[in-house]
Amino acid sequence: MTHDNCIFCKIIAGQIPSAQVYADDDVVVFKDINPAAELHLLMVPRRHIATLQDCQPEDQALLGKMMLLAPKLAAEQGYRFDGNALNVEGNGFRVVMNTGPGGGQEVYHLHLHILAGPRPWKRM
Ligand code: 5GP
Ligand code: ZN
Repeated sequence: MTHDNCIFCKIIAGQIPSAQVYADDDVVVFKDINPAAELHLLMVPRRHIATLQDCQPEDQALLGKMMLLAPKLAAEQGYRFDGNALNVEGNGFRVVMNTGPGGGQEVYHLHLHILAGPRPWKRM
């Protein structure tokens, strides 16, 4: 289900170009156009869901899949938590899902931010 005027639906449909790093039947992952950190990926479900708050019990598997995929993609990009607290740079990553204007959400198609790299990061 593609929502008219949804920029991420257009990216998923290939109508707007993006730097894609991963895709499968459920999700597409591409680089954020205005990265807040050295690594800034956006993971979006192919199906248009506006916000985390709109997710239903039947979306449990999708959300779980997204969370389990995030560390794999971060590691592929060179940001794997190796458990050594002395080594900070590149040692781990952050996931963020903004919800509603109060949560800083600007694009109303569910997306998981994956951020990593040397700080400071830009405000997002
Ligand atoms: P939000 O504030 O909704 O959590 O995050 C939306 C993110 O989408 C922002 O970090 C913004 O830079 C990114 N973004 C907005 N438009 C585009 C676009 O056309 N292409 C890509 N790759 N990222 C976008
Ligand atoms: Zn959409």
